[in-house]
Amino acid sequence: MKCLRCGNEDPSYFYKGSKGWYCRKCVRFSRILLQEELESFDYEIGTDVDEYRFAYELTDAQKKASDKCLAILQEKDVLLHCVCGAGKTEIAVASIASYLARGLKVAYAIPRKEVVIELSERFVSIFPKARVTPVYGGHHERLSGDLIVCTCHQLYRYFQTFDLLILDEADAFPLKGDEALFNIAINACKGKIIFSTATIDTGLAKILKGRDYESVELFVRPSGKPLPVPKLVYLDRYLTLFYLAYVLHKTQRSCIIFVEKRRDCRILYRLYSLFFPCTYVYSDLDKRRENIEAFRKGRYRFIFATTVLERGITIPGIDVIILDLKGSFDEGTIVQMLGRVGRGISNEGGKTLLIGKYGDREVNKAMSYLEMANSSL
Ligand SMILES: [Zn+2]
Repeated sequence: MKCLRCGNEDPSYFYKGSKGWYCRKCVRFSRILLQEELESFDYEIGTDVDEYRFAYELTDAQKKASDKCLAILQEKDVLLHCVCGAGKTEIAVASIASYLARGLKVAYAIPRKEVVIELSERFVSIFPKARVTPVYGGHHERLSGDLIVCTCHQLYRYFQTFDLLILDEADAFPLKGDEALFNIAINACKGKIIFSTATIDTGLAKILKGRDYESVELFVRPSGKPLPVPKLVYLDRYLTLFYLAYVLHKTQRSCIIFVEKRRDCRILYRLYSLFFPCTYVYSDLDKRRENIEAFRKGRYRFIFATTVLERGITIPGIDVIILDLKGSFDEGTIVQMLGRVGRGISNEGGKTLLIGKYGDREVNKAMSYLEMANSSL
């Protein structure tokens, strides 16, 4: 037995209910019986929807990467391996347009709901004539459009549907380590895939092994400046509290302070809000959006955050501090967090600091990655 949707072949996951066999590995998406025919989702693409424009012109390096991407897609999948802030989305636009021009179906899938919303708005201004459809948990009444922007999770609604699928942040949660979800995502595509990522973890490497692909690499940001390399400090918990107070007191800029757990967010917020204008955010906090907006608008200079702010968020002119005292963050996460600094064409730079656990392997891997990326400048 094999589940056509998530690819599971492990017999212990198959269960016989009153109506027939189903697969428990992917039942969390929706229950389908094994004998059920999975159908692709059909809809029409409008005409002339492929016209696009950018707010800024692409740099030469971005143009070159964009052309290469389009050329490879004629035959193979693409691994778009770019540093944070290199403009992955912009690089994929010409490829998306070429599919839309032929009336073919395209989806752009990314891990987080917040990013789906932000990115949909960006695509509306890039493709002014296209109907851009955001699809995420709690927002899936309309599933068709000219360009679908969705969370990876929602791809289960589109079995064998897309001619081009862009899997952005393919090394991140929730795809990371979730084979069933990864297979569902891949099964949403009947054509070519652009796997887009800053770092390649073992899970993604394994998926890529089975596919015919070519890499497009871009380790230079549009500003041409190197990625910020953090100052590393090793301290115990109590000294960290004092040291952090000192750093926040000294700095003139806004700063995201990444912490390992929600609990750390709340505790540190309660402590430091006695001395500094600060706020906090984690994924299931009710006033998540308000707090992020208040920080973005400068009402608070500091925000304590879990990995919820790690990706897709661009706030100009900030510093980043990472509190990784137990060594909880992996290479990809650390690289993404540091990648919040110095984004955009202007790239005003910014300081980065990591207070970590001595000898942590993932921190060392992240440092080697930054060195590799910066050496290509
Ligand atoms: Zn399944």
